[in-house]
Amino acid sequence: MRTVAIPTFRNKCISNLETLHQISERTDIFKFSKLDESKQMQILKGCIKKYRFSCINEVAQHLVFKYDNEAITLNFYGCRFCGGYHVTKVNQSRREQIEKMIINLKNNITEKQL
Ligand SMILES: [Zn+2]
Repeated sequence: MRTVAIPTFRNKCISNLETLHQISERTDIFKFSKLDESKQMQILKGCIKKYRFSCINEVAQHLVFKYDNEAITLNFYGCRFCGGYHVTKVNQSRREQIEKMIINLKNNITEKQL
C-alpha cells in the first residue's frame, strides 16, 4: 500500500481547500509548505491571492481599462514567484509616472487603429 504525502501547514490562512488549490496552480505545493510562515504570507499576499497576468500586454490593457472605466490608477509588478505580473495600489510618488505611461499607451493604441 502506498502512502501519499500530504503537505502540512501550520498557518491557519492555508487551512481551506480553495487556498490550497490556488497555491497548487502557481507552484509546487510541497516546496511552498516548507517555507517559513512569514515567507508564505508574503507569497499569498503578493501572488497567490491576486489575479495573474501572463504577459505585459494583458497588464497594459487592464491598466488602461481601469483608468478609462473606473478612474483608477493601478501600479503593477513582475512577480519573482510565478513569473507573471500582478497589479496593486499605486502610491503617490509612482502615480504620476503610471498615469503618463497609461496616456502614452492609449495614444499608441489610437495611432495603431488609425
Ligand atoms: Zn505571482
